[in-house]
Amino acid sequence: MSAELDELKDLTRSLRRRVELSDASDWTAASASPARAVAPAERGAVAPSVGNKTGILAEVVEKVKACRACPLGSARLQAVPGVGSPDAAVLFVGEGPGFDEDHKGEPFVGRSGQLLDKIMAAIGLSRASVYIANIVKCHPMTDPSDPEKRGNDRPPSPEEIAACRPWLDAQIRAISPRFIVTLGAVPARVLLQDQTPISKIRGRWRTYDPGGGAAPVRLLPTFHPAALLRNPNLKRDVWEDMKSLREELSKP
Ligand code: URA
Repeated sequence: MSAELDELKDLTRSLRRRVELSDASDWTAASASPARAVAPAERGAVAPSVGNKTGILAEVVEKVKACRACPLGSARLQAVPGVGSPDAAVLFVGEGPGFDEDHKGEPFVGRSGQLLDKIMAAIGLSRASVYIANIVKCHPMTDPSDPEKRGNDRPPSPEEIAACRPWLDAQIRAISPRFIVTLGAVPARVLLQDQTPISKIRGRWRTYDPGGGAAPVRLLPTFHPAALLRNPNLKRDVWEDMKSLREELSKP
């Protein structure tokens, strides 16, 4: 038993060292955190009304699952409301679910998600310690009649983004994270109302005003993990961005 404990301690120490020492080129080697599902929920009305953040987030999950505010709600296999800690210091925001997310009901569980897990691990974050959500909560498909077809993804339309926006707003206000990290062009464009190409704004800290009297949140745009899979040269920039996030997180 004590040998097993020693072995476990060694493994923990070595993983911690890998995380501390890792750089962008280690991401393909770092271990992925296990995925955690958000509690199942039932249908409800539209505006979240419960008072505490866990309750509000659970209510958002519930209502997103019942949402038919745009056609994506009818075509999807599963809604993908978001996952993580209600007390997260960091909220990662992606564009929208793809095939894997539609099948699992959880954001970033495909290849991009596995890379995101490694990116987070490189600065000591995990799926359990952050919150991960998307601009739209249902899979935008080129052919909505065939959710079983891979490669059936498309970017969300402005109408779909507008219809889904209240859910992300409610999540941001409930979590009240210290930092938001947007992944890719779409969430940066939507939250910052800024059409500048992502390559020009990544790595530059901005401020996001969640409205409704909530405190402003510092926001860091970076590349989407899918872009890194297509172009590994971008890993270096994302690593710089993650180091900047880590530095800000270390401040009181
Ligand atoms: N890409 C995203 O933007 N979000 C996901 O959840 C998965 C892939």
